[in-house]
Amino acid sequence: MNCPKCTTTKLKQTGYNSPYFCEACGGMWLLPGSRAEVADMTVTEADGEQAPEGQDSKTGLCPSGHGIMIRAKIELDEPFFLEKCTACGGIWFDKGEWQRIAETNLADNLSVLWSSSWQRKQSREKNRESFLAMNQNLLGESVFDAIMELAERLKDHPDQDRALALLRQELTHP
Ligand SMILES: [Zn+2]
Ligand SMILES: [Zn+2]
Repeated sequence: MNCPKCTTTKLKQTGYNSPYFCEACGGMWLLPGSRAEVADMTVTEADGEQAPEGQDSKTGLCPSGHGIMIRAKIELDEPFFLEKCTACGGIWFDKGEWQRIAETNLADNLSVLWSSSWQRKQSREKNRESFLAMNQNLLGESVFDAIMELAERLKDHPDQDRALALLRQELTHP
């Protein structure tokens, strides 16, 4: 079984039911039923936290010979891609990607990452985040915070319309 990224390096399993690792790039091949863990083997070529340059943008072939894998974009601070084989359910993590997933609550349900609803939700959240950030920037922190706090209070308020009318009235009051 060869590394999907280095292609000529053989993947090694460190123990029973543990994932396979590539000694050259530090990637991890996780099959369904095996438990992900941080590689405790020496990685020869790729040192540091990150996968070698450009590794993440390559889509690899399933090491078990099922053909091209499917990517899922993960929108953390620095977005990256995970790859999954639809035939055997194996998931490929470039070096450092498992650690980033493990720091979130995503690790418990990895397969959801490839669902279109999760991918859509993720991009909605990203859009909302940048929308809020832009407004915070333009309005300044104190106005922004006051509006957000007001919005939170009025969210389920029975007289929400009245509150908005009052606000508008006060703004135009001479
Ligand atoms: Zn490799
Ligand atoms: Zn496969």
